Amino acid sequence: MNTAVGVRTDVGRVREGNEDSYLAEPPLFAIADGMGGHSAGEVASETAVKVISDGAAQVSSEDPRSLARLLNNANAAIYTKAQSDAALLGMGTTCTLLMAGEGIAHIAHVGDSRAYRLRDGVIEQLTDDHTLVGRMVREGQISPEEAQHHPQRNVITNALGLDSNIAVDLREIEARAGDRLLLCSDGLSSMVSDLDIAAAANAAEDPQQAAEALVELALEAGGEDNITVLVIDLGGKDAPAPGPQRTDTSPGPSSAAPTTSRRRRKWLGALLLLLLLVAAVYGAGNWALDNSYYVGVDELDRVTIYQGIPERIAGLTLAEPVEPSALSLEDLPDSRHALLRQGMKVESLDEAQSTVSNLSDLAREFQNQRAKGDSKA
Ligand code: MG
Repeated sequence: MNTAVGVRTDVGRVREGNEDSYLAEPPLFAIADGMGGHSAGEVASETAVKVISDGAAQVSSEDPRSLARLLNNANAAIYTKAQSDAALLGMGTTCTLLMAGEGIAHIAHVGDSRAYRLRDGVIEQLTDDHTLVGRMVREGQISPEEAQHHPQRNVITNALGLDSNIAVDLREIEARAGDRLLLCSDGLSSMVSDLDIAAAANAAEDPQQAAEALVELALEAGGEDNITVLVIDLGGKDAPAPGPQRTDTSPGPSSAAPTTSRRRRKWLGALLLLLLLVAAVYGAGNWALDNSYYVGVDELDRVTIYQGIPERIAGLTLAEPVEPSALSLEDLPDSRHALLRQGMKVESLDEAQSTVSNLSDLAREFQNQRAKGDSKA
């Protein structure tokens, strides 16, 4: 599908540098909002965008998971950089990646940047915010309006570069000619309400005017953070994207009516298949639990390696502790607390152990910085 694109990024009124990065290489579009001391956030968001740009040839609409793989590659690149340079330790970035295809768009997303779709004047947020307050809104504990002013609204629960392993949200949406898609960093969405975003985006003639108008709104509202807005108008060829047509294969009049025995054999075959499926799923489930590890905290807030998965199903815990550590949650910077409480999934016990050892390094670094701060005070 043809696209027309507008983009603007602005440092805002408060921050010294701009740690947002973006990519507009149709059909790929991305926004990354970096975080970390000094210019580390800039390094993280630029690295994410570069990995995506370099890997553009490896993604396709036929294989949406290829978008998640790209974000995994970006994560690995940022994480490796951060581990090899003390000045970059702890850096991370959000990333919202969109691929516009024919009649369909795919989104891969980590963090609290957002994607929206404007259709017939109505705005719809297409991504979940990976923040503490985002989760509280989804669970109905607070309203979206309360989230906007919540003291912990900046606590992010998922970002690229913080850990060797990440969970990427993947979403497929219907895309029509006439849709206006919007990617933005939280410098827009935390300063301007969805309704005001919709009004300004609807009023703008072309995507560049829309991007400009939205950044102006965020600046007028205080511009407390870097602001980046990417606007993509879908147009050109109308693509109503018909689903795969199923033709009815009812037997012609010449085929004989099935006899009772044939029916029974069919039924037995279906039953056998069902039993096999149940056995396979049950076996796979057990296998998956035995081969899954995560790093979390126990009831005393001690960092612990678990075998299983951190999610509960019907109130049941699906994990057991396999290796405690001497590390306590309070030894670590706040930015890691939510991640650990949620459980950081890893591929193997080895990886779990190296995650704990990385966390121990981080704790030492953090304690040193805290000690320095204390001696200055
Ligand atoms: Mg931001």
